[in-house]
Amino acid sequence: MTAHSAPTAPPSAAIVTSGLCKVYHGRQGRPDKVALDHVDLAIPRGSMFALLGPNGAGKSTFINILAGLVIKTSGQCAIWDYDIDAEPRQSRAAIGVVPQELNVDPFFSARQSLDLQAGLYGVPKRERRTDEILAAIHLTAEADAPARSLSGGMRRRLLIGKAMVHSPPILVLDEPTAGVDVELRHQLWETVRALNAQGVTILLTTHYLEEAEQLCERVAIIHHGKVVACDTTAALLSRLDSKQLAITTAADIAEVPAALRPFQPEITSNRLITLSYRPSVTPIAEILAAVQAAGIGILDLSTEEADLEDIFLALTREKA
Ligand code: ADP
Ligand code: MG
Repeated sequence: MTAHSAPTAPPSAAIVTSGLCKVYHGRQGRPDKVALDHVDLAIPRGSMFALLGPNGAGKSTFINILAGLVIKTSGQCAIWDYDIDAEPRQSRAAIGVVPQELNVDPFFSARQSLDLQAGLYGVPKRERRTDEILAAIHLTAEADAPARSLSGGMRRRLLIGKAMVHSPPILVLDEPTAGVDVELRHQLWETVRALNAQGVTILLTTHYLEEAEQLCERVAIIHHGKVVACDTTAALLSRLDSKQLAITTAADIAEVPAALRPFQPEITSNRLITLSYRPSVTPIAEILAAVQAAGIGILDLSTEEADLEDIFLALTREKA
């Protein structure tokens, strides 16, 4: 699948929001719910971008505003440089959205579903790329079988195909791999990576840290409707500045020597001690020297870096 031809002045960002707010008004005496609280985001063209956050963080609300399914309360939002209020038709044409639910019509074949969707988007018959899309989502062989006979993974790929019928330059996936097994998750990642390689900007929401870490070069972490971090995945990972050093000792350790206390020692078993340190402050040689000075013989050692999960926990704890 190829991306949509760009407007004459190429936009710098695929999606830009500023001060985006959504308040769901409580019905029947229930309190209002602030689902998005002044969200400022810029999603670069051509990138794979993850909106990461726990359940209820506001991810689907964000996506649904882009899709035109939820009306924002305030703030601005532009898709491919088209303001969603001023140019709703163009802005909607610029994205394809794969919703969270698996809503395929069981009685239509993949080919029929894609054709219907193209009709809904007003794509003229001669401009439809049904076969090309079927190939891209690896459903050529199953093109004419009713959707009810497709596996869960095939249905998910069909939804991606449906989102691409009008050749949008941006594909948005809301929790594409929620509840799917590891193998299928990796298959879907490959499908999404292949689209990105062809120039399609990818925005996905996920509550799987691994998914954001593996797939996306930029991540925004959203918590209680607020963006609490937004950076490259690499920068987020280095930000925590925390490493752990696990030492297998030559002899049993009964008690932690005082000299090691600054490193939050934890004796995991009688011959395994774990120390935490900040690489920017403490060179590892200093810790090893302290261990040796304390008379502890080192049999083996390993270090472990912080991962996105540590950052996620640190950030959502701080701002809770
Ligand atoms: P996420 O997709 O990150 O799980 P959502 O955007 O679905 O989060 O929801 C954000 C918050 O808004 C949640 O507290 C949710 O209960 C609330 N919410 C979502 N949709 C509605 C709605 N239609 N009416 C009232 N509250 C809603
Ligand atoms: Mg959601």
